[in-house]
Amino acid sequence: MMNIYATTEWDERDETYMIADWKQGADLVKNYRCAWDKYTREDMDRVFSFSESYKDFISRCKTERECVKEFMAIAKRNGFRDLESVIAEGGSIKPGDKLFANNMGKTLALFVIGTQPLEKGMRILGAHIDSPRLDLKQNPLYEDTDLAMLETHYYGGVKKYQWVALPLAIHGVVMKKDGSSIEVVIGEEDDEPVVGVSDLLIHLAADQMEKKLSKGIEGEDLNICIGSIPVRTDNSDEKERVKKNILGILNQRYGITEEDFVSAELEVVPAGRARDYGLDRSMVMAYGQDDRVCAYTSFEALMRIKDPDKTCVALMVDKEEIGSVGATGMTSKFFENSLAEIMNLMGDYSELKLRRALANSRMLSCDVSAGFDPNYPSVMEKRNSAYLGKGLTFNKYTGSRGKSGSNDANAEYMARLRAIMDKHGVTWQTAELGKVDQGGGGTIAYILAEYGMEVIDCGVPLHNMHAPWEIASKADVYEAMRGYYAFLMEA
Ligand code: MN
Ligand code: MN
Repeated sequence: MMNIYATTEWDERDETYMIADWKQGADLVKNYRCAWDKYTREDMDRVFSFSESYKDFISRCKTERECVKEFMAIAKRNGFRDLESVIAEGGSIKPGDKLFANNMGKTLALFVIGTQPLEKGMRILGAHIDSPRLDLKQNPLYEDTDLAMLETHYYGGVKKYQWVALPLAIHGVVMKKDGSSIEVVIGEEDDEPVVGVSDLLIHLAADQMEKKLSKGIEGEDLNICIGSIPVRTDNSDEKERVKKNILGILNQRYGITEEDFVSAELEVVPAGRARDYGLDRSMVMAYGQDDRVCAYTSFEALMRIKDPDKTCVALMVDKEEIGSVGATGMTSKFFENSLAEIMNLMGDYSELKLRRALANSRMLSCDVSAGFDPNYPSVMEKRNSAYLGKGLTFNKYTGSRGKSGSNDANAEYMARLRAIMDKHGVTWQTAELGKVDQGGGGTIAYILAEYGMEVIDCGVPLHNMHAPWEIASKADVYEAMRGYYAFLMEA
């Protein structure tokens, strides 16, 4: 029997009844706090000014390429060197140095070299910078009933019905045969046109409304309307005059022809800037917060690190939304290869040291979580959900059903992280993605765990995850940055 004593009224220890002291009982209860409650006036200024920079970033960087470009530019201003040029120049690397490695313009690894040898392990933040969207197909442009249209192929997990009847912008690159590249952004400035996918008018939607939500709008229905004025011609038999006019506009503005679509990566995304959400301006509504909110906060945390003991790393990877595959996904050898190059330039490379560096590392897989939504309580388990405003969210495990596909972080590691977060006064919470049998998800955590390093998922809870406009709490964005910084300092 456990020795729990009632001490409030009885003078002596009495083991007859198992009644705990009321005060002791109260101290034992875990309370996840709301971050807003702890902020001073100065803290509020910091939270809101950080969210302004975040809103600016997320409004401008809507593709993986745009994120890499932005992060590289800021990193360079902060004294980071390009690993590729250090290798080319036969340079060397020493503790305190700051480096970035760019993989095809879509994945970026940033390093701040520590005083300890790399084989002692690194502290790694890993986020992804790809988001669900509509990609243009290889042969996208066609004309139908005097309208110019573009075929799309959706990328990542999208509820297709959410992508109709809203303003969309086109972001991306067109690579020409001569090797030159043309960057395209259409639809973001107030005076620029937007494009979009039409929905069926309710008056004629009797059949559509009977369909399952997943079939109401299908993948091949996601065609973009981009024009309706025909080119002028004396030839009355001239075909596809609207399409030709659009090609004329594209050629005038970008110097491209129809065949150039073949070597283009054009992503159709929600048009417009991030906005404050809520009358108290406590939240941010923006496209692509999964996972650019964690990418931005990871990046900002790393930029604040100077002369660390262990090497600190931030990974910004592509293709997470489609399974982390390909040369720019987390499963590629890019990160491992970059690390080998760095160890070599430090005069400290061997295959064994490389393996030790990876196995001895600790990582936060920085990815968003599902915030409890009072509109959809039936899919969440209230005691193990993340709540907007309650801080950085740890997911000990993700996966689905019987933890299938999960990276289940070690209790020892979780204990260490709790201690670090509490030491730095970071507001944090723990969560599962939803009810056990409801569905599930995963991130890049399991891929790095394969090296034998400690990894846990942790990030910002969202409403509307994967919808065109996602919601995050400004307090959680700020606590994420602080939590990631604390991790880089101490883990
Ligand atoms: Mn994600
Ligand atoms: Mn996602």
